[in-house]
Amino acid sequence: MNIKIWGSRGSLPISVTADEVRYKIKEALAIACKEQICKGADVDKFIDEKLPFYVWGSYGSNTSCVEIDDGSDEYFICDAGSGIRDLAVDIIENKRKKNRIFNLFISHLHWDHIQGFPFFLPAYSKDSVINIYGFHDTLEESFFYQQNTNNFPVQLNQLSAQINFKKLKPDQQYDISGFKFSAIKQEHPGDSYGFRFEKNDKIFIYSTDAEHGEESEKANYAFIDFFKNADLLIFDAQYRYQEAMNEKKNWGHSSNIVGVELAERAGVKRLCLFHNEPGYNDKVLFEVHKESERYLKHFSPGSKMQIYIAYDGYNIEL
Ligand SMILES: [Zn+2]
Ligand SMILES: [Zn+2]
Repeated sequence: MNIKIWGSRGSLPISVTADEVRYKIKEALAIACKEQICKGADVDKFIDEKLPFYVWGSYGSNTSCVEIDDGSDEYFICDAGSGIRDLAVDIIENKRKKNRIFNLFISHLHWDHIQGFPFFLPAYSKDSVINIYGFHDTLEESFFYQQNTNNFPVQLNQLSAQINFKKLKPDQQYDISGFKFSAIKQEHPGDSYGFRFEKNDKIFIYSTDAEHGEESEKANYAFIDFFKNADLLIFDAQYRYQEAMNEKKNWGHSSNIVGVELAERAGVKRLCLFHNEPGYNDKVLFEVHKESERYLKHFSPGSKMQIYIAYDGYNIEL
């Protein structure tokens, strides 16, 4: 099973500014001079081995969208943030061979989780079937509202694809195109839902836009069971611990530190920090990643859990 992150940013798409690119170039040149890269060394090797990710890369700007590729003939997608546009472009440019059946799972209806849908090109093709799964009573209404005449030039019922809204219930087990699927209600303004996908002995959890308060310290906290033994947990770590506990308490998001603790307690193999705060630049996100790895060593010495931080275009093979 392959998990690809098409949108990792929380709340709002952001851009990388000219000043940030200039900073990256200056950092790269400073390190290159120190390493005497001007003397004909292999540039790619230099980038891979000497430059940190925040200098040579970027965590990206797109809002939430994650693809699950289980090798089958259908598409499985979590959320339709702006990243879903890049997924559509990839499907078309690479002439992917799958059937045009798109199973789209919507965690909740906040704008950053549905705003990419009007730009999802397969929705404009009569050969496509798009199954939109969700848990909110206003699932269908929100998609229609987003594309009413005041908001977007093309209305939802003008799209050529066959679009089926499928309302599910949390705490129930479903079989969806070969996946064992279940969901849990999460603490977030207007509620959100975390997803658990199981297939071929692999467990993938998508849990974004969720706040875990003091009750998460209890041994029987429901999410410990829901996250149990996941091969990969994608986790809302929008804030750093101090922010999450103080000025942004009750805003509906969690921190990297809470993510490390819950994932480790649940026996998760890989933790991917997600829903990156739009106010954090690449260097800050790089520091959040390092801080999380240091914290795991302190919280659970000898732990084998791997910690990633999401970026647009990141592929994680399970
Ligand atoms: Zn969000
Ligand atoms: Zn939200």
